Amino acid sequence: MNEIHTDYDVVIVGGGAAGLAAYATALSCNLTSVLLEKESELGGTTIYAVGSVTASKTHLQNEKGIDDSIDAFFDDLMMACKARGVEQICDKTLLRLYAEEVGKTLDWLRELGVVFVGPFPESPHRTPRMHNAVPSAYSYIHRLEHYGTKSGGKILKSFTVSTLVQDKQGRITGVSGHTFSGEPFQIRAKKGVIIATGPYSSNREILRDLIPGFIEAEPVNTAATGDGISLCRKVGAGIKNTEIETTQFRFGGHATGKIGKVATWWLLPRMIAWVVENSSHRLTNHIIVRLSTTYTAPSDKIFLEGGILINGDGSRFVNELSRPYPYAIAKRATTLLRKDLYVLFDASTATKLVRWPNYISTFPGIAYAYLDDYLKFRKDVIHKANSLETLARKSSLDPDNLKATVERYNGFAAAREDGDFGRGELRPIESSPFYLLGPFRPVVTVTEGGIAINTKCQALSVRGEVIPGLYVVGDGSAGPLNVSHGMHLGWALTSGRLSVLSLLKES
Ligand SMILES: Cc1cc2nc3c(=O)[nH]c(=O)nc-3n(C[C@H](O)[C@H](O)[C@H](O)COP(=O)(O)OP(=O)(O)OC[C@H]3O[C@@H](n4cnc5c(N)ncnc54)[C@H](O)[C@@H]3O)c2cc1C
Repeated sequence: MNEIHTDYDVVIVGGGAAGLAAYATALSCNLTSVLLEKESELGGTTIYAVGSVTASKTHLQNEKGIDDSIDAFFDDLMMACKARGVEQICDKTLLRLYAEEVGKTLDWLRELGVVFVGPFPESPHRTPRMHNAVPSAYSYIHRLEHYGTKSGGKILKSFTVSTLVQDKQGRITGVSGHTFSGEPFQIRAKKGVIIATGPYSSNREILRDLIPGFIEAEPVNTAATGDGISLCRKVGAGIKNTEIETTQFRFGGHATGKIGKVATWWLLPRMIAWVVENSSHRLTNHIIVRLSTTYTAPSDKIFLEGGILINGDGSRFVNELSRPYPYAIAKRATTLLRKDLYVLFDASTATKLVRWPNYISTFPGIAYAYLDDYLKFRKDVIHKANSLETLARKSSLDPDNLKATVERYNGFAAAREDGDFGRGELRPIESSPFYLLGPFRPVVTVTEGGIAINTKCQALSVRGEVIPGLYVVGDGSAGPLNVSHGMHLGWALTSGRLSVLSLLKES
């Protein structure tokens, strides 16, 4: 085995948003830094992401004359916690930290060349706070890597960390592992090790162990093994808030990443931002939407405006308005034998899904996509027909089942009582053309909770004591609970940045 083959001030494990934010911050603080990534490419789950970040007190808000405050932001985040039913377990100190720091993170990223559009409104926030990186979340990876390379940092790809090295006093002093070709390595960290290994969405063992009653759902990112959980537990770290339900819905992402790859041309994000901010929505579609599709999630607006949820047999199986959305419904959907799902709606609902706030999904670059966007650019997941029979045939559903389902539902709507699932708001599905959105599936997009940390991002032991030299950031850390849209990336980038600033103070 190669003995400690080199020394760095900081060793960062994982090359997604959190790891790269830590890496760029360390280099800007003149710390010698190495980032180890187990895959042959950087990006992790981050490259699948839309790129939205919820933040307050940013320069962008300021430039648009949006008056905001940290207190108001914190209150709205607490409202989101309540809506998700997690206000009791949410760590208010970390949530406050998020509220105070995420805006500074976005301003810093802008200085490094990330281009944002927005801020856009997004419920339950009372002020526009949704900032979208363009063309997609790949911008974070690209700009942070670019800054690191320019600043003399070192990134080692295909390096898997399998052990944290601990001295007799319990301090984490380095990492060891193996390269893609199986060669072992060991690297010493003089000031600290930062674990940024992302969510455990594809790790069945951890999911079953940490989420009571977890029912099998596919991960979006099959490489999201959440190694940090096992690495840190082996040195005595505690776990927090992993019991939160994480299964959501997503349409497939047939063009994932295409536009991200061309983001390296520095003018492109600026052009896209200009188009989004200055031209009609129709024009932005042509430039951005076709290339930027990723695994988008159907919004609850479709159901609130009258849509019903249909399983692969053409039947309803749940109250579509169950809360919290989508977790309550997605959990039921994972128990179905055939996991493909569809939303059925009629012409009167369709007229509502054309403008804010009734978007079909969030979308890279343009922030929100409406019915027109889907009809033009996601023909793979939308069907339209003048009769239910034709609609069913277009999407391989049983026409008789679909017709029977709609007749039954319309009967409930006429009687103003859903005799099957107790849905409160019922509107008949009767005006043609009819639309079917799907298939989409229950998936584990990201995970919540993870290794317990304090506000310095230091890992805490099962007894709540600091494990010296060990920091955990991004998904896989038990952060503030990312209950509001755009908080996962916000936390990944912010915790990555803050971990280095804390490490500097501690050393
Ligand atoms: C379809 C989709 C859309 C999303 N959209 C948004 C959005 O718009 N806004 C938002 O806030 N969130 C969004 N998210 C969530 C967001 O992408 C994640 O929360 C975020 O990317 C997590 O970043 P991370 O750095 O913690 O993890 P990752 O990006 O997953 O990075 C972890 C890295 O660590 C590496 N690694 C793991 N184990 C080891 C090891 N043992 N040794 C070395 N390297 C290792 C991995 O290979 C990976 O590269 C979305 C997620 C999905 C799937």
